Amino acid sequence: MNDNSRKPTTTDAGIPVPSDEYSLTVGPDGPILLHDHYLIEQMANFNRERIPERQPHAKGSGAFGRFEVTQDVSRYTKAAVFQPGTKTDMLARFSTVAGERGSPDTWRDPRGFALKFYTTEGNYDMVGNNTPIFFVRDPMKFQQFIRSQKRRADINLRDHDMQWDFWTLSPETAHQVTWLMGDRGIPRSWRHMNGYSSHTYMWVNAKGERFWVKYHFKTDQGIENLTQEEADRLAGEDADYHTRDLYEAIGRGDCPSWTLYMQVMPFNEAQDYRFNPFDLTKIWPHADYPLIEVGRMTLDRNPSDYHTEIEQAAFEPNNVVPGIGFSPDRMLLARVFSYADAHRARMGVNYKQIPVNRPKVPVHSYSKEGAMRMDNVQDPVYVPNSKGGPQADPERYPYMETWEASGEFMHAAYTPHRDDDDFIQAGTLVRDVMDDAARDRLVSNVVGHLKKGVTPPVLERAFDYWRKIDQTVGDRIAAEFDRR
Ligand code: NDP
Repeated sequence: MNDNSRKPTTTDAGIPVPSDEYSLTVGPDGPILLHDHYLIEQMANFNRERIPERQPHAKGSGAFGRFEVTQDVSRYTKAAVFQPGTKTDMLARFSTVAGERGSPDTWRDPRGFALKFYTTEGNYDMVGNNTPIFFVRDPMKFQQFIRSQKRRADINLRDHDMQWDFWTLSPETAHQVTWLMGDRGIPRSWRHMNGYSSHTYMWVNAKGERFWVKYHFKTDQGIENLTQEEADRLAGEDADYHTRDLYEAIGRGDCPSWTLYMQVMPFNEAQDYRFNPFDLTKIWPHADYPLIEVGRMTLDRNPSDYHTEIEQAAFEPNNVVPGIGFSPDRMLLARVFSYADAHRARMGVNYKQIPVNRPKVPVHSYSKEGAMRMDNVQDPVYVPNSKGGPQADPERYPYMETWEASGEFMHAAYTPHRDDDDFIQAGTLVRDVMDDAARDRLVSNVVGHLKKGVTPPVLERAFDYWRKIDQTVGDRIAAEFDRR
């Protein structure tokens, strides 16, 4: 029986199809005919549904919302998105790092915290994490680090021995590993975790004054975490626990929000600060640079098409707007290349024309053509031209987000600052931030992790690594390992 209220199925060209159920055959029992183009279209489309998953940050989801500036920080930046009272539409995506697209949300891992602000000056992206630091400080090690956290070549298994091998041979990982093995290594939900730029960026105000800044998005829901046991159970019962939580919360009108605070360092203080302020493995203590409130981000709209709005969302730290710039943080400078390159590899050169990635302001770029192009620059297609085409306006948009550098080309570590040491801030986290109960859980989490396949000599190096972070905690980990 035909139901005339339902739309007829069509091909991708909009042509009504004769059947949803039966392919075109020679009589009821004969072979299928190659010119059943609708069947062919469906099979061919199915074979091409997946685009390469992200490497890393493959598993995640997100939502749309708004950022509203509630305070006046115009003395630090001229960026339109941060001027008093400004409201900007935005998209957020949360993710794990090491797992594949179908992996459990509750594995112990840092979480991605990627934001896209559709500002009046073009798209501004912040590709942050739920941790203020990272495992390595030089992009030369990033690829090696991620490989060590993913799968072995021979048997395609994840391998804790490989993870600890890399970590213990890379002492700069100590701060992030301590953070990861602590309570915040498994958030209860994406709604219950903070987001951080982690990198240091530059802000420039209307007078051209420069500041180094770090972003802290503090959850208004309060920090909540899962224990290892809860997370293990949920990984089996509901691998998509965090995805579901965000979707359901927004669906019932319980819209999560985060308050943005900045740490602001005057430009000239960087050189003599006790820690290298551009080292991604270090925070700036709050006592040195207190948090300055900026505004609030609220997520209130679920995606309606996961693939086009989340899977194809392309966050890229190169998207900075006037008044916001980079810093000498080597990891940031490398990401400014590698994110856009990853998007080109996954989605083709015209990924910025996918609706979720399009700015809400007109684009006047000279990029043209390539696969999947939706629209091109109109003639003239070159610059300079005398035909009225777009033209850069350095007087209106001067490049001010700069700093000075000179020196011989070399492959070398950063020049150490007074208190720079790979273990110092990890030790502060263990001794001054964690309480006894949190330290007990830390010891238990580390021992549980080491018990899963970490062997000598990596094991001895792991005990030594923890003793350098904190002698007592290191001794406890070694003793507890022998006991279990
Ligand atoms: P503060 O005492 O001023 O700040 C401590 C920070 O630690 C707070 O931001 C708090 O977050 C956070 N925190 C609390 N429990 C944990 C945990 N289990 N794992 C990770 N972070 C936690 O001290 P300092 O600014 O001098 O920093 C001391 C140490 O705190 C640092 O070495 C670093 O490890 C950690 N930290 C520092 C941050 C910073 O930007 N200064 C940010 C996050 C961590 P909240 O306020 O949300 O409770």
